[in-house]
Amino acid sequence: MPARKPPTSPQAATRCAPFLFKQNRAPPSVEDTLKLLKHSADSKDLKLGKIIHAHLIITTESSRNENVVLTNSLVNLYAKCNQISIARQLFDNMRQRNVVSYSSLMTWYLHNGFLLETLKLFKNMVSGDNLEPNEYIFSIVLSSCSRSGRGAEGRQCHGYVFKSGLVFCKYVRNALVELYTKCLDVEMAKRLLDLLPGYDVFEYNSVLNGLIENECFRGGVEVLGKMVSGSVRWDSVTYVNAFGLSASLKDLKLGLQVHSQMLKSDVEPDVFINSAMISMYGKCGKFSNAKKVFEGLETRNVVLWTAMVAACFQNEYFEEALNLFCGMEYEDIRPNEFTFAVMLNSAAGLSALRHGDLLHAHIEKSGFKEHLIVRNALINMYAKGGNIEAANKVFSDMRYQDIITWNAMLCGYSHHGLGREALTLFQNMLAAEERPNHVTFVGVLSACGHLGLVQEGFYYLNHLMKQIGIVPGLEHYTCIVGLLSKAGLLDEAEKFMRSTPVKWDVVAWHTLLNASRVHQNYGFGRRIAEYILHMDPNDVGTYILLSNMYAKEKRWDGVSKIRKLMKVRKVKKEPGSSWTEIRNTTHVFISGDSNHPESSQIYEKVRELSAKIKPLGYVPDVAAVLHDVEDEQKEDYLNHHSEKLAIAYALMETPPTAPILVIKNLRMCDDCHSAVKLISKLTKRDIIVRDTNRFHRFQDGCCSCTDYW
Ligand SMILES: [Zn+2]
Ligand SMILES: [Zn+2]
Repeated sequence: MPARKPPTSPQAATRCAPFLFKQNRAPPSVEDTLKLLKHSADSKDLKLGKIIHAHLIITTESSRNENVVLTNSLVNLYAKCNQISIARQLFDNMRQRNVVSYSSLMTWYLHNGFLLETLKLFKNMVSGDNLEPNEYIFSIVLSSCSRSGRGAEGRQCHGYVFKSGLVFCKYVRNALVELYTKCLDVEMAKRLLDLLPGYDVFEYNSVLNGLIENECFRGGVEVLGKMVSGSVRWDSVTYVNAFGLSASLKDLKLGLQVHSQMLKSDVEPDVFINSAMISMYGKCGKFSNAKKVFEGLETRNVVLWTAMVAACFQNEYFEEALNLFCGMEYEDIRPNEFTFAVMLNSAAGLSALRHGDLLHAHIEKSGFKEHLIVRNALINMYAKGGNIEAANKVFSDMRYQDIITWNAMLCGYSHHGLGREALTLFQNMLAAEERPNHVTFVGVLSACGHLGLVQEGFYYLNHLMKQIGIVPGLEHYTCIVGLLSKAGLLDEAEKFMRSTPVKWDVVAWHTLLNASRVHQNYGFGRRIAEYILHMDPNDVGTYILLSNMYAKEKRWDGVSKIRKLMKVRKVKKEPGSSWTEIRNTTHVFISGDSNHPESSQIYEKVRELSAKIKPLGYVPDVAAVLHDVEDEQKEDYLNHHSEKLAIAYALMETPPTAPILVIKNLRMCDDCHSAVKLISKLTKRDIIVRDTNRFHRFQDGCCSCTDYW
């Protein structure tokens, strides 16, 4: 009886498989069996594969007569079906192995991240079984080296493939490029492109992509240059990469060049190119171009909408981002987790808890709550919006956290002046074996600042950061200046600034200046202020602080000198403005203006509050007023500060227990600060004021900043 012909279609193979092995029929040939095994491996049909394997066990009389090719097929089958222990057992029991036996197993290990195991097998192959690796094996080994960061071993392989000529093989070449881009040897990666001729656009794209992923942006620009000079035709992937590169470098000129090249080419911009282009213009600060690209598109999907919303966010057009979101809903485009994350960050930028709460509800309904990126953005939104409890609630409900989660919560605590909570969280983070990064330490060091923990701060800066391998940057050093300043160690702070080799910006000097005001070391403060004005003659805040310090010392000559200087230099004080949201409407108050429809009632309320807190110890800080007017009028000027107006209005318009949140565009003045403390006591309200420096949470006559800001 002739052996049954193996069925041709894969479906038929699966259907007929049991009949193939009926005992009363002749056994299928080895070729047929191999074909069937290959089919079951490719279609990951473990059931069929096992039937064939069982049949082979029954029919093979002596396992000593081992067929290497058949066993290899079985190893391949089990590896492809993710039954690695069976595959490995078969492999280990083989008396004789060849390159194919190794490659199935090594491929599985590589794809499943067991990189060390791949390298061990390679070693065994060369020195144990004395086999000659082929190009495929080398590409696996090179990939394992690059993915596990074993640059040295990778270079050894490079030497070997170079000598053997395998270097010209496409797999090997790609793996080598991957190795050198991943191991950050950009020079070598570029040299490979020069040395080995015939790279096509796909290979260039992969180098470019590798360089961008590894943040070697300059190297990326060079590769782009090579593509231009080598007249390699760019495809859509190249354009996406090139726009990404321009965005990462914030290099508008490059971005515009890429854009014009694209217009000249025959590449049709697809959704990826368009969104990369919108992101590029957004990140390069050319918002109008981003908008133009977006508005010129006929069809816009969620990716494009999200890119556009992100461009708004990056350019701080938070309101516009929120408006776009409504437009998106209008066009019936379902937002995804990235859209929600950007929207939450925009709401955080506005400190608009109303929008944030609405978004939160929307997220709950649409089922995006479980996405890490969304939760992280929720924490950030609540922390920046002044509701640290809500941030903590989101944080505690999370089963998985990543570094961004920890940082958002930790920096949130620090920003709210909750140093103790921040440091406890840091300990928990270390216990959870999350590796802190430079952002974490900004939070940790500023927490030390709030608590006045000078020694701990220096321990983190000089020891722990070094131990973890994080090089301190300007932000960390500025935290240390803040830490020393807060502890009243002004001379040490200045010494630290003068002796630390870092390019200080005006923020650090402001910190020192502000500290000299708080610690009433006016002579010191004047010196620092003059230094700052030397660096930046237009720094309004410094003029004001300097003038206030003269006023505190009752040195009116100094006050008028500063006023004259401001006039001569045409420096104008930005008017103070504060805003608060009441029942979904934002009310804006500008110091001294009476544009609000209920203006007269509001001023009356402020006067009433001011009178009521005087018995509690409020003394109007008339010295801080710049004007040469009667004391009574000075008191009026103080009463007209925007945050007082906003708080008075919120007290009038909200239920007696509702907390009040006010955002202010400038630093809160001393007088408002002491007044609001007493107002919180008088009215038994929680009042939160976010000024340019931080959150002030006023409760029962105290502020969370402990009068240091
Ligand atoms: Zn004020
Ligand atoms: Zn405060």
